[in-house]
Amino acid sequence: MKNAPQAFESKEDVGHYVGGKIVTPQDGRFADVYNPSTGSVARRVALASRKDVDAAVALAETAFQTWGQTSPLRRARIMFKYLELLNAHRDELAAMITAEHGKVFTDAQGEVTRGIEIVEFATGIPELLKGDYTEQVSTGIDNWVMRQPLGVVAGVTPFNFPVMVPMWMFPVAIACGNTFILKPSPTDPSPALLMAKLLKEAGLPDGVFNVVQGDKEAVDALIENPDVKAVSFVGSTPIANYIYERCAHFGKRSQALGGAKNHMVIMPDADIDKAVDALIGAAYGSAGERCMAISVAVLVGSAADKIMPKLIERTKTLKVKNGIELDAEMGPIVTKVALDRITGYIESGVAAGAKLLVDGRGLKIPGHESGFFIGGTLFDNVTPDMKIYLEEIFGPVLSCLRVANFTDALNLVNSCEFGNGVACFTSDGNIAREFARRVQVGMVGINVPIPVPMAWHGFGGWKKSLFGDMHAYGKEGVRFYTKQKSVMQRWPESIDKGAEFVMPTSK
Ligand code: NAD
Repeated sequence: MKNAPQAFESKEDVGHYVGGKIVTPQDGRFADVYNPSTGSVARRVALASRKDVDAAVALAETAFQTWGQTSPLRRARIMFKYLELLNAHRDELAAMITAEHGKVFTDAQGEVTRGIEIVEFATGIPELLKGDYTEQVSTGIDNWVMRQPLGVVAGVTPFNFPVMVPMWMFPVAIACGNTFILKPSPTDPSPALLMAKLLKEAGLPDGVFNVVQGDKEAVDALIENPDVKAVSFVGSTPIANYIYERCAHFGKRSQALGGAKNHMVIMPDADIDKAVDALIGAAYGSAGERCMAISVAVLVGSAADKIMPKLIERTKTLKVKNGIELDAEMGPIVTKVALDRITGYIESGVAAGAKLLVDGRGLKIPGHESGFFIGGTLFDNVTPDMKIYLEEIFGPVLSCLRVANFTDALNLVNSCEFGNGVACFTSDGNIAREFARRVQVGMVGINVPIPVPMAWHGFGGWKKSLFGDMHAYGKEGVRFYTKQKSVMQRWPESIDKGAEFVMPTSK
């Protein structure tokens, strides 16, 4: 058995990171940061005012004047160094995530690794920014396109991936030549400062990466500041919609990734044991607090009777404990408010007539009686009109729906207002192919429960799971953080004599 990891236990207030320095205000607004496994306040986080945000943007704008002119190769070399440092500090970042979010340490390590993969992608920026060139588009004329950085760009991120989601954004943005302001979730603000410190150590000039901690006031200030040229957002659907519309109002570019309700369709021909393993991990991993978590199992025909006894058994025996313990399978919920919201949904499911097969409410963990714990919860006979089916619960609650055949399963998934992730478990190649082609969802897994695309493919859902045209990271990320410029060039020897009054065409 490996040694238990070192827990993160700082009591210091968490401040901002601006112009290459940590700035911790002595007054102004603060919010409490909890340790979800004990239920107690661990530290406080500063909440930036509009003035704080504007000062950070001004510094980032100044830094852009130089950073935007550095060669892509120099920027890539800093990313290489950053990559080394992230690998060396991976467990420290993971312990911070576990301390403030509650997810189990091994899952937090996985989160950091998925973030690191975006840095690996960003090291290839010279190739990614290489333009297109056509010689002789007309006699003596050449045409090429290049992609240039936007300026200061901002990222607003959710509590559930305090390392990975910021890293979906800033490595690509910075490598493209932009300067960046990160506004993390105030629920788990500490990892952002360690990521900033490591960027400085990697040689990133001051002012290129900044962190403003805060809430709505900071977000509104970022959107309204004319020097912020684009906003990337990841969070719940109502706030994603708000960010997208506000950015459109101010004429700026945004990509706003929202909430989800992800289905796993299980066909009768699926390998049932493997499907159960996948479902348990995808529904209850990270206590269901993942935008790609499976919260709905669609059991087709005889799959229901085969799967249900195994699912009940596995849900009842989940190892729920303090996430820093290495054998934990599920940690606590992030806050008391979130825990109360989840228990409210369970009550609503019972009242609506769904069959509660495993009830996780009231779970007490010895030594952590005040922690925000709940066990895995399993509903059967859920119907599409129930609130527990229609709304995102964002907790360890799995709803099972039974349908007669593949067509009914596909229609059910396609009528959902969210379209983030979906999975189909089957051993029939034609079903798999038809599912992938016809399903109205942005990220599809065939016998893969959580199909988060790799760093170079880009992440994004459809429908109410994404507002904006471009997905996060990958080539879409590079497009989001740059604008295209086309140059047409000719030299005097090839210039025709006399004015031309007709639309120029290739000669
Ligand atoms: P949230 O929407 O409450 O907060 C996200 C960010 O917005 C935070 O930084 C928060 O401080 C800020 N914010 C909150 N209220 C605001 C307001 N009124 N105005 C401006 N900014 C505001 O989300 P959360 O609870 O932190 O995260 C969970 C949600 O994020 C879930 O809905 C989950 O599905 C979603 N999520 C989506 C993806 C995705 O890729 N689609 C990934 C991770 C999480």
